[in-house]
Amino acid sequence: MGIRGQFDEGYSGDTLVGSYFNGVFAEQPHIYPNRLKGFPERNHFMVNAVNWLYTRMTIHGETLDLAQANISEFVRKLDLRTGVMTRSFVWKLKEGGRLRVKFTRLLSMTQPHLGGQRIELEPLDFSGTVSVILGLDFTPPHESAGRNLWNGLKKGSHNSSTAIMAETVGSGQKILSAFCYCSNIAPSSSTEATLKENAEKFVGLNLDFALTRGKTLTIDKLIAHEVVKDRRTVADAFWNSALKRTDEILDTTFDEELVKQSAHWDGVWKQFDISIDGDPANEQGTRYCIFQMLSTYHGVDPRLNVGAKGLTGEVYGGLTFWDTETYCLPFYIFTNPAAARNLLCFRYNTLPQAKERARELDCEGARYPMTTIDGTEACGVWHHGDLEIHVPAAVAYGVWHYVHITGDKEFLYDYGLEMLIEISRFYASHGDWSPKTGEFGLWGVMGADEFHMMVHNNAYTNTMAKKTFEWTLQAIKELENAKPSRMKSLARKVNLKKDEPSRWKKMAGKMRLQHNKKTGLIEQHDGYFDLPHIDLQAIPVEKTPICGKLPYIKRSRHDWIKQPDVLLLPLFFSHEYTLEEKRVNFEYYEPKCVHESSLSPGVHSILATEIGKHEMAFEYVQYASRLDLDDYNRNTSQGLHMTSMAATWMSLVYGFGGMRSDGKRLSFNPSIPKKWKAFSFHIVYRGALLEIKVDQKQATFRVLQGTPVEIDIYGEKHTVKESGVTVKLSIPKKSSKRSSQKRAAHK
Ligand code: BGC
Repeated sequence: MGIRGQFDEGYSGDTLVGSYFNGVFAEQPHIYPNRLKGFPERNHFMVNAVNWLYTRMTIHGETLDLAQANISEFVRKLDLRTGVMTRSFVWKLKEGGRLRVKFTRLLSMTQPHLGGQRIELEPLDFSGTVSVILGLDFTPPHESAGRNLWNGLKKGSHNSSTAIMAETVGSGQKILSAFCYCSNIAPSSSTEATLKENAEKFVGLNLDFALTRGKTLTIDKLIAHEVVKDRRTVADAFWNSALKRTDEILDTTFDEELVKQSAHWDGVWKQFDISIDGDPANEQGTRYCIFQMLSTYHGVDPRLNVGAKGLTGEVYGGLTFWDTETYCLPFYIFTNPAAARNLLCFRYNTLPQAKERARELDCEGARYPMTTIDGTEACGVWHHGDLEIHVPAAVAYGVWHYVHITGDKEFLYDYGLEMLIEISRFYASHGDWSPKTGEFGLWGVMGADEFHMMVHNNAYTNTMAKKTFEWTLQAIKELENAKPSRMKSLARKVNLKKDEPSRWKKMAGKMRLQHNKKTGLIEQHDGYFDLPHIDLQAIPVEKTPICGKLPYIKRSRHDWIKQPDVLLLPLFFSHEYTLEEKRVNFEYYEPKCVHESSLSPGVHSILATEIGKHEMAFEYVQYASRLDLDDYNRNTSQGLHMTSMAATWMSLVYGFGGMRSDGKRLSFNPSIPKKWKAFSFHIVYRGALLEIKVDQKQATFRVLQGTPVEIDIYGEKHTVKESGVTVKLSIPKKSSKRSSQKRAAHK
């Protein structure tokens, strides 16, 4: 679950009170003036749920509201070391008297169903009575839907807790939330709190406490949630079973949870901190990204995934995109491989929906959706939902990448290969043969660059489809050799036809790749080089962001691009492109990119580093690392840019760390920006925890835990052990200034 930075005590100014549970969604029909074949019927999106921090506080008839109150000494702090957020200020009462108020909040990392809130009130110069309402509130509106999307089902007290159960409109998913509290001063009265309207969606307690000058009142509220997503679950049965669970979860104290939370994050930072000596701002930004990645996906539940905005806002509907496999997965593969496996299991668990979607689109195999929470297609914008067929290949890439790095063949044989086969079938049925050249290709698609739609043979998509065929064929061969009977039963399960593998081989061999071997340049799609050029510097500011200001027909007729497309290839398959090819493509496409996706700066930074454009790489890194902390795009209020956060980690590890994960062994070409004294990071690789430290002169690789591992450093094979390997830095000399104007990455 996630909760926004809203004020616990309520706020009459502009605010979005947001509380989200991964996988809990509302649904409604898509409204089309004319619904054509293949348009998904139903939309679904992560729903704004119970505000479990609900607090109201009244003294001498004045209710605390920061939009109105006289406030000083306001401090809000998120402590990344302990995973605790605090907010404190002094409230000067209208009737006189000053009260120091402090809220402490945590979302437990060790018990993901548990949240905690501590309220501390210290009357600095008066004594009196404070009325505090502690509540669970299902009434906040879902801002983009313009209404509340819950039906209250039941509420009441149970043992020492106060509970409420509600159900999402349409999708019938249920949440039961229960809280208990304790305080260092006993309340002089405790009554049930209610709301005038929507009483069935709120439960709370109204508590009066005597305040004594100089003495701090501390109230600890612990909140547990249970969720059931199957709409057929009978409400009363869920109420009883969920209360048993919440009783167990609430059998703890706030102090105990603080200790556990702090120990958890301590362990995380010991294992996965990235430190940057000489650049506190980027160090903080990078750590914030790691913190958010790990908070968003704990890695334990294979029914959940990572939304493009995590659990932090309504924009992008809490939906999962191809971002997961292409950008987020590497972070989990190298920090928590079990979490990476679970993310891929999400795709396996939703394979039936992907197969169904392929049927709807008159294709075979599995068409993984553009956007989803439950595996069905949520995207109602057909040119994205139907045309961005690179999404299934991203899943295939995720399967391959995970198995390639972890060696988890059991996953491949049990789940991965079945997905690969179905995705290969999809491309085989979607693609066709050119009568002119005899090549195989994919016509009428939209590549990763969303400015150009209904293009033919997008190089990225075609290459990813070719790779999918090859990974599938390789895995079939491997399983046939290693465990022939298992392969036979898989072939029976998926009804693998005899001629399918040979057809895929032919398609892969004849795939149109758009790669001019002479110049090294890859044409983004058929006819891209022919598109009229547009000088990005000449675009008037009022026409940007282009995505918001220009209609599609205007976007697709020039050579500008929204985000890296071709440039993903030399990153994902680094070993298959020469340095010169990388340079040629980077220099061609980078100046054409407007970065109107936060997926953009990280990838550019990595490639810029590789080709020796360190200043440019540094600029891109700092843009990505503090995107949300400094609200560069002025849209952090919509939710955090999770994919950019993953890309920030990549810019350090793949960028300046120079790691590449597509070769036979993991390889590193470390370098360092001039401004940094040193930086270090850790990764998990083949059972070892590896530490990489880079300073201006050298790079040191050391195994901190586990067995020795073989890696390549600057192209030479090394066995890294506890004693470590140190190499002299060898930084590519070529460096040039940025050729393009820096533009905001809007998403
Ligand atoms: C990008 C997509 C991405 C989505 C979610 C869009 O702006 O163009 O590639 O999947 O944002 O992050």
